[in-house]
Amino acid sequence: MADSRPYWQNYINGAFVDGGAGRLAVNDPATGDTIAEQALADVYDIDRAVGAARQCHESGALSDLRPVERGRMVRAMGDHLLERIDEIAPVLTKESGKPLWEARLEIEGAARYFEYYGNQAETVEGRSIPLGAGYFDFTVHEPLGVSAQIIPWNYPLEMTARSLSAALATGNACIVKPPELDPLTNGFMAQAAEAAGFPAGAVNIVCGHGKEAGAALAAHPDINQVVFTGSVPTGISIARSAAENIVPCVLELGGKSAAIVHDDADIDAFMDDVRWGIYFNAGQVCSAMSRVIAHRSIARRLTEAIVVLADSISVGDGMNRADFGPNMGAMISERQRERAVGMCADAERQGATLATGGHALNRPGYFMQPTVITDVSPEMDIARNEVFGPVLSILEFSDDDEAIAIANNTPYGLVGGVFTADLDRATRAAAGLRAGQVFVNEWYAGGVETPFGGYGKSGYGREKGRESLWNYVQTKNIAIRLKGNG
Ligand code: NAD
Repeated sequence: MADSRPYWQNYINGAFVDGGAGRLAVNDPATGDTIAEQALADVYDIDRAVGAARQCHESGALSDLRPVERGRMVRAMGDHLLERIDEIAPVLTKESGKPLWEARLEIEGAARYFEYYGNQAETVEGRSIPLGAGYFDFTVHEPLGVSAQIIPWNYPLEMTARSLSAALATGNACIVKPPELDPLTNGFMAQAAEAAGFPAGAVNIVCGHGKEAGAALAAHPDINQVVFTGSVPTGISIARSAAENIVPCVLELGGKSAAIVHDDADIDAFMDDVRWGIYFNAGQVCSAMSRVIAHRSIARRLTEAIVVLADSISVGDGMNRADFGPNMGAMISERQRERAVGMCADAERQGATLATGGHALNRPGYFMQPTVITDVSPEMDIARNEVFGPVLSILEFSDDDEAIAIANNTPYGLVGGVFTADLDRATRAAAGLRAGQVFVNEWYAGGVETPFGGYGKSGYGREKGRESLWNYVQTKNIAIRLKGNG
């Protein structure tokens, strides 16, 4: 049964509350119509949420729990989301534009984070360090304290789950600032925290405008870290605020990731990678396959196959798309779509060719055609800058080193891919690509278990995997001089 409540509140100190800045209208990207209102926080709400988290932390209500208990609660949050998947998925589709089947995948992905980090809670252990006779030395990992997490709109539930699960598992009290464009499903997240039995103040979910509430949260003197996923300009301003307070931040920013396709690659199988890589979530994925770098000898055949694939994708209202299939929903907003369409037009002006797509659909809502751009050279803006839409650029190469150089010719470095039957070639490409994660013969291989994060302007710090746990803890060393023998 879909949840059709007309108004969604924020969650501070264990209570659902209104926002000091009033209410925000949330629109359905498939129609442009308002579907519900969200409580909008002001800076005082942010201050209260940080205060609640601080108090929770200082009381030890979360941090003093035995890790096994925290782990159980973290896993229970995921279970709660899965139990309510039939309610949550339509709300996620309505607020974000993504097809119903993609919304379900996102909820399952969010639950998986809670499962994985719930299980990891007990694994955060220190080590003992030999200092010679007369000494005993060991390390312990303590929670940082209060974790501020600022979330983007492309995966509002899953990105919240990614940081919240690891932060709670390691004993941090959290304030989540959901995105303004699709904040509603984070209301379910608050209910999941409540159902899982977290103490008041451990989880606070407070939606507000980025420049007001988000900036106030990032600059708050009483937080101990900021975890941010979003755009480069916002990342810069958040890192500045964190620097003022001398607190660490994790930045997961954009990407311009490339798949290198060699002449011995399995092209039929690669079509599936293209479909997931650039048309999933209408290309609004930080690690999207936004460039294909094809060996010259197969470029024509590959391009033809990709154009056939792009043209086979049916675009429309996500609520009518419950089944996995070659389909795509709306983009999140008019602004994002106009930006993507504008970048396609610029590419054409710079000499590239729209092999297919490149335009908005002539119907209400923020739909864009699945797009393939050819005759792209590495210096063009379309080859270097993030589109964040269903737009694939195809470039060509003649030798292996050239392919790697083209792939690396962007300010970003989030992921990369290489498709070949030759293990040697694949390994050399994996070593040469400046990216935090390299996929060989399957785009998006890996999972919650595998560390993820950027080189260059894609950010710093790693989410996912065991590496992420170290974002959320302090290491304390305890060096003991033993009295008596020795
Ligand atoms: P954005 O930077 O505009 O917004 C992200 C979040 O930051 C939102 O919650 C917003 O309210 C908040 N915000 C905005 N201005 C702020 C400020 N001055 N201070 C504090 N918070 C502020 O980005 P977006 O448009 O929501 O997301 C798209 C971008 O995010 C793309 O560039 C994409 O590549 C990137 N992204 C990266 C990843 C990743 O894991 N690397 C994942 C998803 C999205």
